[in-house]
Amino acid sequence: MPIQLLPPQLANQIAAGEVVERPASVVKELVENSLDAGATQIDIDIEKGGSKLIRIRDNGCGIAEQELVLALSRHATSKISSLADLEHIASLGFRGEALASISSVARLTLTSKPAMQAAAWQAAAAGRDMAVQVRPAAHPTGTSIEVLDLFFNTPARRRFLRSDKTEFSHIDELIKRLALSRFDVGWTLTHNAQSVRRLPVADSESARQKRLAALCGRSFAEQALWIENQYGTIRLSGWILAANACQQTAACQYSYVNGRMMRDKLLNHAIRQAYGELLPAELQPAFVLYLELDATEVDVNVHPAKHEVRFHQARLVHDFVVQALADALAQAATTPQLLDSD
Ligand code: ADP
Ligand code: MG
Repeated sequence: MPIQLLPPQLANQIAAGEVVERPASVVKELVENSLDAGATQIDIDIEKGGSKLIRIRDNGCGIAEQELVLALSRHATSKISSLADLEHIASLGFRGEALASISSVARLTLTSKPAMQAAAWQAAAAGRDMAVQVRPAAHPTGTSIEVLDLFFNTPARRRFLRSDKTEFSHIDELIKRLALSRFDVGWTLTHNAQSVRRLPVADSESARQKRLAALCGRSFAEQALWIENQYGTIRLSGWILAANACQQTAACQYSYVNGRMMRDKLLNHAIRQAYGELLPAELQPAFVLYLELDATEVDVNVHPAKHEVRFHQARLVHDFVVQALADALAQAATTPQLLDSD
């Protein structure tokens, strides 16, 4: 076969393979866009585990009519414009690939209205070549994205989908993790028109406790230690369970770096080390921890789905986390517990 350029649709489908693994990955990309758009309310409707419908509605800044088509193109982003920007990324997205990828493997409709625009417009990709059509629509300020029939044109991918129940449980888990990263945003989640989560904006101490209890369980919310520690420009805050309250299955193990949810080996290692001998190997730590550091200190452009980051001063970050947590845990271990009445 001679060398030839891939048609854009096929190139997008190949790129989609990296970020769009299952319905939950679509939800992640779309919700991150809503957060980047400054939304304070995000409503998520799912049908059949997301294989039939994923609909995300936000009250963010919206997309102007003349940019709707561009938003669906590959490598089109409003979040970075130079290599220098890549060094200090403050947004969750920056690759300009999600909408193009998703619209190449599903039927996507984008409806949006910026505050300053009189009316809403809708862009839909349809037909064999996925030509984008734009037409007037009704929508309040913000954006709705509807993704129908995920993987309808990539049967190999579609076959890898698990049951609706399993796919939905991945989505619910994702929303849990996201809702723990943004207490200042209200969330709703429905599955097959049934309400699954309704989390109003938590802007007071008691509202935050309530959300924590709803997502991590009452006993975690009641027992977890609140920690807050800073070293130079590195800051760690969040909740962690004292060793004597840990069990064989963890209530939750969530960590965030600059607001981005992570499964980070370095952090997990630091957390385990902080418990040290206080925590027998068969027990699981439980925590919701937020690490914040200067954006120039982390590289988020490591993995297409951004599950990982690279710390420039990995050793320093690791040791700071160990120290901050070890102090709090040791203190809890020597402070007598109030006896429960039951
Ligand atoms: P990225 O997030 O990496 O920029 P995406 O393909 O996810 O790339 O989105 C492309 C662009 O479309 C974004 O840069 C943003 O300008 C716009 N966009 C996408 N979703 C929304 C939304 N919910 N609200 C406002 N703008 C959006
Ligand atoms: Mg994005």
